[in-house]
Amino acid sequence: MRTRMACAWLLLSSVALTAQAPAPAAIPPQPASAFVEPGVLPKTWTTAGPKCMEVPAWQVHEYNPNFFILRQSGCIHYEKPFLYLIFGRDKALLEDTGAGMVDSATIVQSLMAEWAKRNNKTGPVPLIVVHSHSHGDHVAGDPGFIGKPNVQFVAAKVDAIQQAFGVKNWPTDLGSVDLGNRVIDLIPIPGHDVAGIALYDRQTGVLLTGDSFYPGRLYVGDAEFPAFVASHRRLVEFTKDKPVANILGTHIEQTSTPFVDYPRGTVYQPDEHTLELSRGTLLELDEALTRLNGKLSRVVLRDVILSPRVPRQ
Ligand SMILES: [Zn+2]
Ligand SMILES: [Zn+2]
Repeated sequence: MRTRMACAWLLLSSVALTAQAPAPAAIPPQPASAFVEPGVLPKTWTTAGPKCMEVPAWQVHEYNPNFFILRQSGCIHYEKPFLYLIFGRDKALLEDTGAGMVDSATIVQSLMAEWAKRNNKTGPVPLIVVHSHSHGDHVAGDPGFIGKPNVQFVAAKVDAIQQAFGVKNWPTDLGSVDLGNRVIDLIPIPGHDVAGIALYDRQTGVLLTGDSFYPGRLYVGDAEFPAFVASHRRLVEFTKDKPVANILGTHIEQTSTPFVDYPRGTVYQPDEHTLELSRGTLLELDEALTRLNGKLSRVVLRDVILSPRVPRQ
């Protein structure tokens, strides 16, 4: 393959050298849609070890100067969820508040103070708090934000989300919020949970998908399966004409070995999958959902596992 490519290059260059023909066509410009603000993701995340004593409660990662990813230590809660803090010119948005006995408000406040200082603001910008969905491992830090000055707290409930983001018809309409030169789109994706949402940051092309799509076990119940499939389809449709740099969910349960996940409840995951998924995996799951033809069953794909949820008591 390499040899053939090299030959082709030689052939092309000899043509270019010998023929005094018209100048080669300029490289066509990149489509405008491909220009997104870049960011960097770590190769690996700290999960919980090997020694819990040495692991801080939060790992804070700067994806870029206006986009922060926080991961809660597995030593505090085995779910080790990810939280997202995004800054626009006038406001910031936090998705999720953590799991278990958690104080996420303090770390978020300090990041906001730091950002304000860096950007020569007189004080922290107002904060909007939203949730990927309403499950306990994503809302546990809520008390630190409710009723606090400068905080618009959006409860993980359908009507509250509709109101805050202007979603007329749930779940088929989209919503959005402008943080000041930075629009975040909201796509309702009920299925894993009734109040499930995805957020799309136009600035970076990052799509946040909560527990509905992440490298791990995507739990869904029989009764919610049709909604899950419809939501997934809307995500595929939404991303069709947009740049998707990274799809980031709220947990990692896969190992770095394709198809293999860590057992439920694993605290220390030294060899875990990356956080980011691509639209390719979104399409792969979509294909698998089509094959199921409405009948929920476990499907193990390379990077995600569709997992029927045992009905709750
Ligand atoms: Zn959940
Ligand atoms: Zn979760």
